[in-house]
Amino acid sequence: MKQFKKLMATIAIGTAMLSGAALAAEGYVGISMPTKSSARWISDGDSMISQLEAAGFKADLQYAEDDIPNQLAQIENMIVKGVDVLVIAAIDGTTLSNALENAHASDIKVISYDRLIRESEYVDYYATFDNFKVGVQQASTLVEGMKKRGAGPYNVELFGGSPDDNNAYFFYNGAMSVLQPLIDSGEIVIVSGQMGMDTVGTLRWDGAVAQARMDNLMSAHYTDKKVDGVLSPYDGLSIGILSSLKGVGYGSADMPMPVVSGQDAEVQSVKSILAGEQYSTIFKDTRELARVTVGMVQAVLSGTDPEINDTTTYDNGVKVVPSYLLEPVPVDASNWEEVLIGSGYYSMDQIK
Ligand code: BGC
Repeated sequence: MKQFKKLMATIAIGTAMLSGAALAAEGYVGISMPTKSSARWISDGDSMISQLEAAGFKADLQYAEDDIPNQLAQIENMIVKGVDVLVIAAIDGTTLSNALENAHASDIKVISYDRLIRESEYVDYYATFDNFKVGVQQASTLVEGMKKRGAGPYNVELFGGSPDDNNAYFFYNGAMSVLQPLIDSGEIVIVSGQMGMDTVGTLRWDGAVAQARMDNLMSAHYTDKKVDGVLSPYDGLSIGILSSLKGVGYGSADMPMPVVSGQDAEVQSVKSILAGEQYSTIFKDTRELARVTVGMVQAVLSGTDPEINDTTTYDNGVKVVPSYLLEPVPVDASNWEEVLIGSGYYSMDQIK
């Protein structure tokens, strides 16, 4: 593989010399994203491309539509094409070990993007948000929203993210650090009794799966009581949960929507917040994540140390991956305009 890369590099230099052009890019970056089905990953990809190109890099961006073999094939293909750095947001954080061994054999640096790649020593850096804090914020907005509507005890149901995504555990554990004491004191009642990521996880972050589970929870446990709050870790799940709730009559004057959290500040969910349906979401500025990641790319390619602000939290099972954690921001009806429009993340006509 190494020889193949060298050969490709020689050909590239030869071609550049023949055409008399200097090589514009100082490096070639492969970006592997999980899916286009969620707007956040599209923003991530767009920001990565524009910032890498502005910095003079050549980039190849691929989306794997939540299909693991597809993502593996795309990464292998980038390795063969001779990228210098791989930036990967994994679909399943545990299935990339072989691909990363191949990357390592070709001297390719690997940056784990947003989601930690597990069980591989060949993850050089990790750029993400403070994922535990995301969970804390989700649960805090949930509790705050329920308190605004009246005194407890509150009937609550819990949803987790995809069990193959390391982030899902951080979100869940962060949320439980807020909710567990309230469950212990009786202020929050998990009516179904369903708790723990193995029970409440939602494979592939699939909104339809969350909707079906919410349907079941409602018919099995809520025919004679109301649900006051739902912990949802992602806007796409919140939309499924809200549809299920609407289906059994919530969202009217005598049956107000329970407080439902979210994540990513996706347009549809911001609109839902404005319509008084979803209560909150968590904004994670993907432009900032791209900026940090491009900084890491520049550093590894110039042989310097990237900026890191966490060297203890993200153990991938083989090593603690040096990380840069960005700050998530809770958003609800009171601050969406300031946070999302004020920062230029969305324009007003995208939302209204
Ligand atoms: C990301 C979240 C996103 C979720 C579903 C997680 O890994 O951190 O921002 O909501 O995946 O795409």
